[in-house]
Amino acid sequence: MLKNISIFGSTGSVGQSTLDVVIANPNCFKVHALVAQKNIDKIINQARIVRPEKIVLSDESQFDDLVANIKKHPELKKTQILCGEKAVTQVASEQVDLAVCAISGMAGLASLMTAIQSGSHIALANKEPLVAAGPQVMQAAQTHNVILYPLDSEHNAIFQVYENTNKNSISKIYLTASGGPFRDLSQDQFASVTREQALKHPNWSMGPKITIDSATLMNKSLEV
Ligand code: NDP
Repeated sequence: MLKNISIFGSTGSVGQSTLDVVIANPNCFKVHALVAQKNIDKIINQARIVRPEKIVLSDESQFDDLVANIKKHPELKKTQILCGEKAVTQVASEQVDLAVCAISGMAGLASLMTAIQSGSHIALANKEPLVAAGPQVMQAAQTHNVILYPLDSEHNAIFQVYENTNKNSISKIYLTASGGPFRDLSQDQFASVTREQALKHPNWSMGPKITIDSATLMNKSLEV
């Protein structure tokens, strides 16, 4: 049976990777909603491929442009268009088989909590809501019988180990860090590093926030 999914942060790096999986497996998934902040061109291109029931942008000021652009694509005439933070929460309250939560930073907290309360299982990419409100998020997941699948690779690896192994046989977990673009710098060179250098991760192509967080090792702190 097709799994119904909503993707919060569809136009970002994680959101696009999620859609690549959806597109590669047309017999497995049906997209209920695509949600982003303001990237009209990208969300429309995504919608033309996966034909979601709803497109939502949290930035209300984009509504007129979004409507005008959608009109150029008759294949999307049945797609419902919504804008504003309330619309994001409304869509999050609609239960799906899986809500992919990949809005960057704390902006993702409200939709995550609402999706949990709706009983949707969660694939969680952004760590900030767990860092800021871990007990509340985990309690809500327990109350609503919701599974939180971690998408971040470190947490997913740990999740898989715990799934398959007796928890008690694990005594310690090490998280490794590459140091990203600054791994070979001496401490006194750090005063002159630039944003542009920090955005050039040698191995991964990710959104800007996590790329900067990786270069500063903040991402590692969030993971811990
Ligand atoms: P990106 O910056 O590439 O994408 C962010 C997404 O969130 C975009 O779709 C953006 O929409 C949307 N967004 C931002 N603010 C809002 C808002 N207020 N309301 C609605 N949508 C919003 O980020 P990534 O995909 O790289 O990362 C997403 C999360 O996953 C982050 O928390 C990151 O730390 C985490 N993560 C990412 C990994 C990666 O490989 N990229 C790996 C592990 C974790 P728009 O495009 O319209 O602005």
